[in-house]
Amino acid sequence: MSHTKIALSIAAGLSLIFTVLVAHAAPPDTAGAQSYKSHKALLIGLDGMQYEKLQQAMQQNKAPHIASLNPAKSYTGGIGATSTEQTTGSGPGWTTILTGTWVDRHKVPSNNDELRNKAPSLFEQLKQAYPERKTASIVSWNTINNNFADDIAQGFIDLAVKCSDVDQCVADKASYELEHGSSDLVFAHFDEPDNVGHKYGFTTEYQAAIQGVDNQVGQLLSALKRRKKSHPKEDWLVMVTTDHGRRLPDGHDHGAQTLSEKTTFIGLNKPANAQLSRPITHPDNPDYDNLYGFANHTDITPTLLAHFGIKPVPARYAMDGLPLTGPLGARLFTARLAPDASQVNLTWKGDDSKDKPVNIYRNGKKIASVAYSRRGYIDNDIKALKGAVNYTAVINKVPVSRLVTLKD
Ligand SMILES: [Zn+2]
Repeated sequence: MSHTKIALSIAAGLSLIFTVLVAHAAPPDTAGAQSYKSHKALLIGLDGMQYEKLQQAMQQNKAPHIASLNPAKSYTGGIGATSTEQTTGSGPGWTTILTGTWVDRHKVPSNNDELRNKAPSLFEQLKQAYPERKTASIVSWNTINNNFADDIAQGFIDLAVKCSDVDQCVADKASYELEHGSSDLVFAHFDEPDNVGHKYGFTTEYQAAIQGVDNQVGQLLSALKRRKKSHPKEDWLVMVTTDHGRRLPDGHDHGAQTLSEKTTFIGLNKPANAQLSRPITHPDNPDYDNLYGFANHTDITPTLLAHFGIKPVPARYAMDGLPLTGPLGARLFTARLAPDASQVNLTWKGDDSKDKPVNIYRNGKKIASVAYSRRGYIDNDIKALKGAVNYTAVINKVPVSRLVTLKD
């Protein structure tokens, strides 16, 4: 290699490093950020709470606080038999909830303290937009904060508390932080329903665990109510979810791809858009009783970030979910490599946006604009592409992405 070539390749290398650094550090568009200063959020995680058993408790008025957040059906575990499929376990589940991505991006496929989330988290994205904002992650199952140890080390999580399976510790620490603390975003995770489910299955003990954790949800909501008296201008989004369902018939286990294990719920204290309130009744993939027509775990982080007024940048977008409030994005967006690897088929569903244009990006570059009503686009210009390719569809200024992996 000649000196000139070496110099050129060093320059190219440096400019590449510079570009990567800039791309990573550039804050998202927060135009109009002023008006979002008082926007804050609480995300409540209830581990291993099966949707039908929660509904049963709600019908018996034994889960009034969870009920007040209007839990609606959703799914987890990714799309079966695709690169997004992940076990219906807690490690993958909470990592999806806290990143807006499936396992092909977050790389936490199992329950393992050594695994580290590899996708930009909810905490990181909030900090990139507003470095002065404060975040908290208070967890009963310590593995969650271990999977997010890099976020903690980099200062994206200001207050990280491991409560070692003592749910009352979570309730007390989180409600103190909500009432007296300075956190803008609080994640509070409870583990009792899952622990009791593993031990006793679907029993009166399990229903009692749902009721018990509902009391602790009530403790958090009461703390917020007291806070609002001294901070009347704050606008709190409160969300609740579970990481997975439970295996039928007895409810002891979970982890597999079955309807009861994949079914979850998402609730919030604000009006939801159609992505949560009006599921698509005939998804192309009808598996699990049309479950894929419902909202899913990847929608939670985009919903929270939208509440903070963080305007997504389409060219840099890399989350698999859609906000559950405000304008609708491209619903059921999928990207599939054709069996002969000659093209990538992009599809979306729903008729909410009629003939408005959908802008399609491939690895950050706009490649097409097509009417929403076409419900699809074929990219046959893929010969030069290698490895993981990120496709993004944008409509109503709302992006959603999918990874496709091509052969190297
Ligand atoms: Zn479990």
